[in-house]
Amino acid sequence: MSETRSISLLGATGSIGDSTLDLIRNDRANWTVRTLSANCSAEKLAKLAIEFEAEIAVVGDEACLPELKQHLAGTGVEAAGGREALCDAAARSVDITVAAIVGCAGLAPTMRAIEQGNTVALANKEALVSAGEVMTRLVAKHGTTLLPVDSEHNAIFQCLAGNNIDDVRWITLTASGGPFRTKTWEELDAATPSQAVAHPNWDMGAKISVDSATMMNKGLEFIEAFHLFPVELDRLRIIVHPQSVIHSMVEYRDGSTLAQLGPSDMRVPIASTLAYPARMDTSCKPLDLANIGELSFFAPDEERFPATRLARESAHAGGGTPAVLNAANEVAVAAFLAGQIRFTQISALSARTLDNYAPPAPQTLDDVLAVDAEARARAGEMLEIA
Ligand code: NDP
Ligand code: MG
Repeated sequence: MSETRSISLLGATGSIGDSTLDLIRNDRANWTVRTLSANCSAEKLAKLAIEFEAEIAVVGDEACLPELKQHLAGTGVEAAGGREALCDAAARSVDITVAAIVGCAGLAPTMRAIEQGNTVALANKEALVSAGEVMTRLVAKHGTTLLPVDSEHNAIFQCLAGNNIDDVRWITLTASGGPFRTKTWEELDAATPSQAVAHPNWDMGAKISVDSATMMNKGLEFIEAFHLFPVELDRLRIIVHPQSVIHSMVEYRDGSTLAQLGPSDMRVPIASTLAYPARMDTSCKPLDLANIGELSFFAPDEERFPATRLARESAHAGGGTPAVLNAANEVAVAAFLAGQIRFTQISALSARTLDNYAPPAPQTLDDVLAVDAEARARAGEMLEIA
């Protein structure tokens, strides 16, 4: 790349944050870092802000601001804290905002970046799942470019380039199947948090790792794909591909299927958004197909992994339903990680919350946040009964 570009990174202390900053570190002269954010990892955030000479570092949790200020004293980096401060920092104008906060907590700041017209590289799938058309309408209104970071959606985006969406027969999302792909129901029921976060192919944050184990990650991605790529829901399919080499595929009406392949390293899709529409170097290990040897594919098993069915049904129901699903799942995953519920209860809690709460379609960000809050409250109540 030739000219310097400015970047804000929301969720700088997480797994996507690490991968993004690794790319920036190796291409330092070409980037100006404006906002870096975390929730409460104040020390790590301060270190990064100093290293990357950020303009401002923000913690979402205001209680962590004193610690952040202490670490940044005398450095010239501005420190801020709280949800409003996070949104204000996200609204600063930059060439690209990487939205990498986990969960619906990332929605409001991401919406502010969209409103500002910043190109948004979206990792935070829960934000798009919850807000759906409320987000895509804002993107259209402000002429914002939304680039998918999620490896499957990034693959689809690349496979669609230069083609007409009306010629698409199928979009196929690949799923690794997660660490429990071959487990029986009884084994799933006994699965522990440490087993669930040990993903065979990808090194990710705890929440998305559990989502991969339940297959809810693929369910959320199904809804994400529906909002990113304008095809009918019945043209979206999921196939299990344990090697995670093909990141997704698009089949056209003439019978051609385009697939995007790459190593299981998020720096590849992130780099494609950072450099878009150009390309940049990465230090990722090249794909060694001869060493991989074989690629295999299986139909998903929705008996053992009901999450993809719940997500598909939520997508068909539309309106506020995906936000309910997402919120219930966030509550359930947190409860599982805290040892409060069993692995198989994660999807069960989401299903019960969906049965219990059918809100009207949200029209605004506040509506989405209200649905999210109510769904969390109801899922939380059911946890106490469980
Ligand atoms: P991590 O848990 O590793 O990081 C999450 C980041 O969000 C951290 O910076 C964390 O700060 C911050 N954060 C958490 N809660 C809040 C909050 N309430 N308010 C403000 N900031 C908050 O997650 P990942 O990097 O794994 O995932 C980030 C997003 O990217 C998720 O939506 C995930 O689904 C998506 N994604 C991730 C992939 C991956 O490989 N990791 C692949 C594809 C998509 P702190 O450190 O202070 O807690
Ligand atoms: Mg993905």
